[in-house]
Amino acid sequence: MPRVSVRVLEDRARAARDLLRPCRLCPRRCGADRLAGGKGWCGAKKELEVASVVIHRGEEPVLGGSAGVGNVFLAHCNLACVFCQNHQISQTAKRFRTEPAVLAQNLLDLQAAGCPTIGFVSPSHYVPQILETLVIAVRRGLDRPLIYNSNGYDSVETLELLDGIFDIYLPDFKYGGDEEARACSDAPGYVEAALAAIKEMFRQAGPLETGSAGTAVRGVLVRHLVLPNDMSRTGEALLLLTRGISPDISISLMSQYNPLHRAMEFPLLSRRLREREYEAALEALEEAGLREGFVQDPLSSPGEYLPDFDRANPFDRYQVKET
Ligand code: SF4
Repeated sequence: MPRVSVRVLEDRARAARDLLRPCRLCPRRCGADRLAGGKGWCGAKKELEVASVVIHRGEEPVLGGSAGVGNVFLAHCNLACVFCQNHQISQTAKRFRTEPAVLAQNLLDLQAAGCPTIGFVSPSHYVPQILETLVIAVRRGLDRPLIYNSNGYDSVETLELLDGIFDIYLPDFKYGGDEEARACSDAPGYVEAALAAIKEMFRQAGPLETGSAGTAVRGVLVRHLVLPNDMSRTGEALLLLTRGISPDISISLMSQYNPLHRAMEFPLLSRRLREREYEAALEALEEAGLREGFVQDPLSSPGEYLPDFDRANPFDRYQVKET
């Protein structure tokens, strides 16, 4: 729930909209003139496009409890991960155009359905439109903690406009090495950009906190998907988080990698994670001194975790295990 007034929300929405011309919302700074109808590197234009609005019971349990997170999956993406697990919405045509007023009503419907938190997934390229949506939704009574769930490729300038608005940040920190980030996600400067972004998120929201119902009300939870052949450079990534930000930052270390989308074209990414690779990642977690977070059962079938955006509810088989 925003801790700023609606008037401040409106000011932030206007300031964010200014970043669309030329677009410098994210570290790619591709410069598309989106307000004049241009399409960005990410595929987004001026109009808001959404892939799915769902109650998602498969996030880490602390985020949505048994009721689930009310999630809005934004269409398009400012990365191009060759193994993207959401490629149906990030890279292809699974999307529909909507308006802030319509999406605001969707958020209120999710709140009325009992979702303790409301999340925006892949929000980085739609920050102005999300803020415009929140102006309307907050006026109409939206009061749940808000989750910003991004791939970590966010700019600090854009994130500063979210200070006091988002309660929970759920960024990925995908790579501990730039070579891999460029090869697998076409993300120049990913490590420095994502680390700076997560640092700003942690400055705003701090360590993960839960309320009386046991669900998160504030803080940062970083997701790291362990890739085969250490293409995620997991040890380096975890050390960067500890040393560059704080050992108190919470981590979700994910074992669910599945070679989807174009992964089979890349020999080092063309198989599932081996149990011993995930165990090495767990050792790296301990060596890095990170104290809080979630891990997965390395023997789980990746199929258990995969959303299918062709289904009415893409997440009815998706689950994350807590230890
Ligand atoms: S958000 Fe999209 S359009 Fe804007 S700079 Fe990033 S890639 Fe380009």
